[in-house]
Order: sequence, then C-alpha cells, then structure tokens
Amino acid sequence: MDIQDRITNIKGIGPKKAKALERMKIQTIEDFLCFYPRDYEDRRNLCTIRDLTEGATALIRGKITLIVKSGYGYGMRQTIKLLVTDETGGIEVVFFHAPFLEKSLQKDVLYEFYGRVSSRVDRLQMTHPDFHRYNENQIAGILPVYPLTQGISQGEMRKWQKEVAAFIGEMEDYIPEDIIVRNRLCSLKYAISHIHFPIDMQKVKEAKFRLVFDELFLLQLGLLSVKRRVNHDAEGIQFERNIELEAFTDRLPFTLTAAQQRVMSEIEKDMESNHIMNRLVQGDVGSGKTVVAAAAVYKAVKSGFQAVMMAPTELLARQHYNSLSELFKPFSIQVGLLTGSMTQKERRQVMEGLSDATIDFCIGTHALIQPEVFFQNLGLVITDEQHRFGVNQRTILTKKGNHPDILVMTATPIPRTLAVILYGDLDISAIDQMPPGRKHVITQSVGASGRDSAYGFLRKEVEKGRQAYIVAPLIEESTSLDAKSVTLIYKEISDRFRSQSIALLHGAMPQNEKERIMEEFYAGEIHILVSTVVIEVGINVPNATIMLIESAERFGLATLHQLRGRVGRGGEQSYCTLISDNLTELAKERAKILTETNDGFLIAEKDLELRGPGEFFGVKQHGIPELRLADLAKHIRILEIVRKEASLLLDKDPELSFHDHQELKRRTSKFFKTNETISI
Ligand code: ADP
Ligand code: MG
Repeated sequence: MDIQDRITNIKGIGPKKAKALERMKIQTIEDFLCFYPRDYEDRRNLCTIRDLTEGATALIRGKITLIVKSGYGYGMRQTIKLLVTDETGGIEVVFFHAPFLEKSLQKDVLYEFYGRVSSRVDRLQMTHPDFHRYNENQIAGILPVYPLTQGISQGEMRKWQKEVAAFIGEMEDYIPEDIIVRNRLCSLKYAISHIHFPIDMQKVKEAKFRLVFDELFLLQLGLLSVKRRVNHDAEGIQFERNIELEAFTDRLPFTLTAAQQRVMSEIEKDMESNHIMNRLVQGDVGSGKTVVAAAAVYKAVKSGFQAVMMAPTELLARQHYNSLSELFKPFSIQVGLLTGSMTQKERRQVMEGLSDATIDFCIGTHALIQPEVFFQNLGLVITDEQHRFGVNQRTILTKKGNHPDILVMTATPIPRTLAVILYGDLDISAIDQMPPGRKHVITQSVGASGRDSAYGFLRKEVEKGRQAYIVAPLIEESTSLDAKSVTLIYKEISDRFRSQSIALLHGAMPQNEKERIMEEFYAGEIHILVSTVVIEVGINVPNATIMLIESAERFGLATLHQLRGRVGRGGEQSYCTLISDNLTELAKERAKILTETNDGFLIAEKDLELRGPGEFFGVKQHGIPELRLADLAKHIRILEIVRKEASLLLDKDPELSFHDHQELKRRTSKFFKTNETISI
C-alpha cells in the first residue's frame, strides 16, 4: 500500500464508509493524514467524582447505576439522564434529544465520560460528554477529536487515524529546507504525527504552527503565481538610488521610530527596483504613517517625477496639505491641493500646474480621479485611509501615470484590505510601534445613567483649557431610530455650556463653513466640537483630550477605534467615553474590547472575530480555498512572513520547475484543486 492509495484499502472502510468520508474530502491515505482534529481531550488525569468542580473539563470513570428516560412520545424532547458513580460519589450525566444513545448505555458497566462539569441548583452535572466503554488496554493520553459526518463515529476516526499513521514516514516534506530553518518550523512528519497523537499540548502548538504556516504558504504561492503571470511584463520606474531619504528625515523635528525606519527602507527598496511598487502600509492611528509617505514623495520628486496623495475627505486632504507644504518648504517641492469644493478657477489653475509639472506633489480628494485631470509624469500614487476607497478608484488614479509606484495606507486592516492582500495584489508593511511619549487613552463605557458625570468631567477638562469632541451618528433627529442626533446634542450642549465656545460639524454643511470651523478648532478658539463621523479619519489636534461618543452602540469597532484616535495626540492624558442608551450584547462586547486595549491590530482582529469570517470574507465567492487550521483573522502576522517566503521562492523558481520543488508544486495545485476554485 502507498500513501496515495484509496482509503478503501484500510481495514474496516468499505464503500459505505468511504462515501461518508468523501463528504469530508477524504479519499486517499494522504487526505486522511491531512484531516486534522478540531480539538483534543486531555485524558491523562482521571478525576474522582468527589473532586469535580464546576467549570472544569474532566475525565471520570464509573458505572451507570441509574438510567432515566423522559419526554418520550410524539414531538417531545427525548432526554436520557444517567447517574454515574465511582468509589467516591455520583454525578448526573444528561443527553438531550438523544434516543439513539439508548442502545450504547448499559447499567453496571464501566464507562469513561469526558466533558465539562456544570452545576444545576444543588448538584453537579455533565451534559453531552464524550463517552466510551472502559477498556483496560486503552492508553491514557491526549486524544484527538475529529469533525464528523453522519455514519462515522469518533472512535472509528481515531482507530483509522492510528492505522494510517504508519504512512507518515512516506510523507515528503515539500517546504524547502531554508524556509524551514529560517522560520524554525518542525518537520512535516513531526507535525502530522503530533497533530493527531500529541504527547503534550506544547507539541500540538508546534505542530499547529507548522501546519498553519503550510496552509498559508500554499495559498500565497498559488495566488502570487497567478499575479506574476498577469503582471510579469509591466516594468516600473526605478527611482534614483542616490536620492537618500535621510536628507529628508534628518530635518524632521523628531526621530523616527524603528518601525517607521523599517517600513521606509522597505519602500525605498521597492522604489529603487524596476518592479512596480504595490505596497500597503498598515499602522495604528497615530503611528506616524504620513511622514513615511512624505519620505516616499521626497524620493519620487527628487528623482524627477510627480507624486499624488488621495484622501477620503476634504478635511483630511486640507490637513495634509497644510502640514506637508510646511514640511516640504525647505526642499523646494511645490505642493498643490485639489478638492471638489474649490472654485472652477482655482481648480483649473492646479490642473495646469499638474499638466506642466510646476506642481510636484498634489494632495486631494476624489476630485483627483476626474477624467480632466492630467499629470505630466506621475511616478508615485498614494492613497490615505485606503479602506474608504474602492480598488477601482485606486486603479483610475494609477492610470494617470505610466506604471507608477503605489503606496496604500490604512489604519483599519479590514475587511476589504485583507481581501486585497489575499488576492496577492499588495505587499504589506506594518508600523507596529507608536512614537514615544504617547499616553494610553483612558476609555470607559457607560449607560444613560453615566451621561451626567461624563459631561461633568468634560466640563472640568475644558475649563482646564483642553478641547473636546462629541460625536453622534445622525444629522437630523430621527423618530425611527433611537440615536442621539448631532443637531439635538448641539442644542443641549449649547444650553449647558454657556461660557464655552461650541460648534457643530457635519458632512452636509457647506465646505467653507466646515473649513472655518476646523480652523477655529485647530486654533483653540472652539472648545467643544459636536460632530458626526466626518472627523473620523486623520484629524490631528493635539490639545483635544476628550472624546465623547453618543449612541456608541451604533458604531462598529473599527470606527470607534478611529474616533478614539483623535485624542491622545499630545502630551496630556486623554479620555474616551462611550455612551449607549441601549446596550446590545454586541455593543457590550465592542465596548469591552475597546476599554481593554488600544492596539489597533488587536482590535481589527477582534472585529473580524465578531463579524465572523463568513461575513467579512465570502470565502467561496472570492475564490479562496477553504482553510482548515489557518484563520485569516488570527494569523495575519504569519501571513506576512509567508508572503515574503513565497515571493522569494518564486523569484528563484517562477514556474516551480526545479526538481526539488515538484512535491511543493503538486501540493499547491492539490490545495487549490480540492477546493475547486482557482487552478494554477
Ligand atoms: P497616522 O498614522 O494616524 O496617519 P500621523 O502620520 O498623522 O498618524 O502622525 C500623528 C502625529 O505623530 C503627527 O503629529 C506626527 O507629526 C507625529 N509623529 C509621527 N512620527 C513621529 C515620531 N517618530 N515621533 C514623534 N512624533 C511623530
Ligand atoms: Mg493618517
């Protein structure tokens, strides 16, 4: 027999069982070995019934001394209750709706039960434990728990898995040696044998890491080779090697963080190569992405090209324009601004500057992608807060240059962005470190009863000279939705805080009005800004230390985190309060996550978990193979490593034609084929 043989060669698997197994995509012995447990039962510690405690997951061994059936009859829940006893005591074991178990439960015979202990009023109980007849020869240890399908039992899976284990020795390690060594992976044989029959849970961890790595590696290898086929003839711009970023960064008023430096050198390398840069920079709110992008602009412009940066809102575009024109002044880089609210005349002027290249670097909104905008030699395209744009908008902007380099920045790596990563479309850099001296934003969540004290605290801070944001979801009061509207809140606040200067800001206001208000807020003339989420992205006012969010239950995690990122930008301690009149379970969960962490990456991951992978990622729709162990929400860092490795490998062997790579090639196409999506 050989590892590629059909499972029907295994003793006990006839046509019927084979058909059932096929539903779980198990056809060959190799498939069987690659069918991993979903969980484990730790049976090393047998527990006496007397020592059981509520909440523990335990293994007990005892006799069934009583069987009580209830609910038999038409349409009833058929419940079986057992009393199980050992020398030390007894416990109730319950199976709901399980008449089929009746035959396998016999009185006065020794069984083992494994499950969670819960408590019912006056006694302990196990519901739906795993169980089997005790057998003296059986080995105690950690047992795998496999996903099942109708007609296949856990016991059968374990038995067959033991039999096919004899073939582990035949498995060929398809991951190249250097990748195994660099990433400290255990061998494939080790991983497969310990994922099924581990000696301890540490071994499971090592095995899982290796197998998650493998899954993502095969995925990336497949996707990247598709991308290369599409893209291989497009040559990008090679920016000047001797334009050094230090010339720019040395004149900044602060020292770059190690993370900023690392990302910058990744960008520099891309820009100097003749490949088209296609890079995503992820960095938490306030991690300093703008200056990294500015360094890239410096290099592009000094190499003789134009650069463009597109931002999702006017406010943000203007803020970038103000701070970056200041930053570029010493380098005589001409900066322009193009937005929808500018007059026809102003716009025409900027567009002329772009087509005759008197403007080196233009910042703007969607106005930039209008067909009448032309550049003379656009070499670098940057989109800020990428999650606000569609991939198409980025593409349109890119088409305004001749294969320009592309830099995409985001503080919310979900969910479109992740999809993009998986399409093999972008490389990723992470600024995973904050500039020094940032204080944690103290976050709390309150119900309606906490509103008064939250506003009282806001008043105290404002009287100390700080500024505050109050954010609410809607513009006009709506009767159907129980959400506080900004206009209503604005009226209330104006009554309450007579001695302060208060302003209202929302998206439907005329542009010049919005600008005036933002300018006054920057200047400290406005103390309290009541706003919709238009202030969500990018706005940077260091003296603002209070963020109060009304109807917080109506915002998603990512938005709440972005909003909170508007404070904590200066030296003072900052605070964020979430107020919710009706706290749903989901809202509670979100609030809990936000109060526990300030780490945007973690929050993004949690957001994915809360939404559920199905929702953020229509796996089938996107043509991405189903993953068994890897979790795109949890393993994003492994995904980054794997991308690099897959890409390096394809540099060496683009067609996977080396003799040493044949098993890898077979595994990659199998991975994509069994999932019936893309064939490579
Ligand atoms: P984001 O990543 O959210 O876009 P910004 O680029 O707007 O963040 O940066 C936030 C603030 O931090 C800005 O005022 C910027 O000047 C400042 N900043 C950026 N990098 C550093 C650094 N290395 N040290 C100190 N301050 C920095
Ligand atoms: Mg930013």
